[in-house]
Amino acid sequence: MISINGLHKQFGDLEVLKGIDLQVNKGQVIVVIGPSGSGKTTLLRCLNILEVPTAGSITIDEQTADFSKTVNKRTVDLLRRESAMVFQHYNLFPHMTALQNVMEGPVIVKKMSKTDARAKAEQLLNKVGLGDKLDFYPHQLSGGQQQRVGIARALALEPKVMLFDEPTSALDPELVGEVLQVMKDLASEGITMVVVTHEMRFANDVANEVIFMDQGRIIERSKPIDMFTRPKEERTRQFLNLIQ
Ligand code: ATP
Repeated sequence: MISINGLHKQFGDLEVLKGIDLQVNKGQVIVVIGPSGSGKTTLLRCLNILEVPTAGSITIDEQTADFSKTVNKRTVDLLRRESAMVFQHYNLFPHMTALQNVMEGPVIVKKMSKTDARAKAEQLLNKVGLGDKLDFYPHQLSGGQQQRVGIARALALEPKVMLFDEPTSALDPELVGEVLQVMKDLASEGITMVVVTHEMRFANDVANEVIFMDQGRIIERSKPIDMFTRPKEERTRQFLNLIQ
């Protein structure tokens, strides 16, 4: 359902993605790990076309863009709508309540009526355990609560795939669990997810597959148990030794 072929991304002279090939099936949870600067965030941002790849193609369901050719804006817009991103620093609109933050996407992007968008936002905020915080502004919420609003906001776009970029790494340790629990619930509902995280326990418990990236390439891809107990590549072993 997601197919990434020969994806390259260059910033000036710096080649950050050097030919990524990756298939993700519907309902799969893929965790991406790797050292700082290996290109994990850039890969997610390319999937959501927050960065325009330099070459290669991305297909999500029926939408394809081949960045080796000129890609028109309409194709980019259609492909972008297939995914939604949850950011490390939440990126909520500070002047909007939790409810307004979640309503914004459906109203602006999907042209949904405000009444329907409000009902949907309420339902999603309930789902992430924030039914009693609808009218709170981001600064009135804890980091964990803000991130759960971020997840509800991404879900409101009804994406084919949810992209999580280190969603818990800005949180105080005691708030990490509540966000991971929401993500686990989404995974058990069969939502397709690509997650960049350093939470190896989450990867072990939830991921169908773990991908190890280094220097802009996928070095190894395997089931969590294999990745964490018997990695095939020396570079993977070295990385896991450093973080475990
Ligand atoms: P981390 O775990 O530290 O977040 P990462 O694996 O997610 O790292 P990226 O954020 O994708 O890595 O960055 C990969 C490389 O691309 C880095 O060297 C970074 O400085 C560079 N880079 C990322 N975005 C840009 C940009 N907009 N302009 C120039 N260079 C960039």
